[in-house]
Amino acid sequence: MAPAAALAGAGPRPRPGLALTLAWLALASAAGAAAAAGPTAAGAATTARHAMAECSMHLNELTPAEAQIILHKGTEPPFSGRFHDHFADGTYVCRQCNAPLFASSAKFRSGCGWPSFDAAFPGAVRQAPDADGQRTEILCARCGAHLGHVFAGEGFTPRNLRHCVNSVSLDFVPADPAAHRTAVFAGGCFWGVEHLLAAVPGVAATTVGYTGGQTADPTYRQVCTGRTGHAEAVRVVYDPRLVSYEELCRLFFEIHDPTQRDRQGPDIGPQYRSAVFYQDEEQRQIAARLIAALRARGLDVATALEPAATFWPAEEYHQKYYERTGERPYCHLRVPRF
Ligand SMILES: [Zn+2]
Repeated sequence: MAPAAALAGAGPRPRPGLALTLAWLALASAAGAAAAAGPTAAGAATTARHAMAECSMHLNELTPAEAQIILHKGTEPPFSGRFHDHFADGTYVCRQCNAPLFASSAKFRSGCGWPSFDAAFPGAVRQAPDADGQRTEILCARCGAHLGHVFAGEGFTPRNLRHCVNSVSLDFVPADPAAHRTAVFAGGCFWGVEHLLAAVPGVAATTVGYTGGQTADPTYRQVCTGRTGHAEAVRVVYDPRLVSYEELCRLFFEIHDPTQRDRQGPDIGPQYRSAVFYQDEEQRQIAARLIAALRARGLDVATALEPAATFWPAEEYHQKYYERTGERPYCHLRVPRF
């Protein structure tokens, strides 16, 4: 994911009311207690936090009790957290940096007293050997916040994994379709662009289609002639509380080559042009700023900024193409450019 600065726009969320005592925490986990007790470990955690703050990652302020778990790898008492018995539709995010970590659909009742998930969003959670030499620690991949531990082979769900997470390490963003916004990008064959954008946490839905041309309700065959004016495009419906337009836009510029004109890899013609179809002035300004940033890095960006026009969904057999076929994108791959 792109830097998290834009997530600051998600706004503050309610802070958990915590009733943890340091005395209990000292007993809760040998590893956590050892880390908390050692001034070197505590200093390292604070230094790491400062380093991240300096590279513009937005970090929420932590209470001392939250810091005890998130920075010093403590463990909350079982059955004490606000999420162990919490089942609602939405997304669990990192308490410290707001990165989306777990979907509510991955949560299950383990009876262990801590929130349990059988999957994290791809790349959202990092694993590390625990200081106890036995368990596997899990951390927020973006900010390094301590989340808890992961256990395999317990047989709770078909995925056979239990991410055992402290409630304190999490916040919850309830599902709210009314909050959703739309973005439209064209970057060559829409199969690959859709595949990569659909995987972003916070993206609620994607549709491939045609936009920016003259012909009403065009067919794929018509668009392929290159004479309808349409571009193969992807409409993204996203939750701005979980992913910002800027983050989506940055990703768009990294999953296709924005310097290619009227083509993308082996696909040639104006229907494969690189374009951002902005929905409003704010989106136009964000895209223009990113294009300027890429040009400042020496890229001869060909991406056009076009006002959003009628979006014609493509034929059903084009939708979620790679998901349905199990194939892999042939010309879209993420390349860091910012
Ligand atoms: Zn984080």
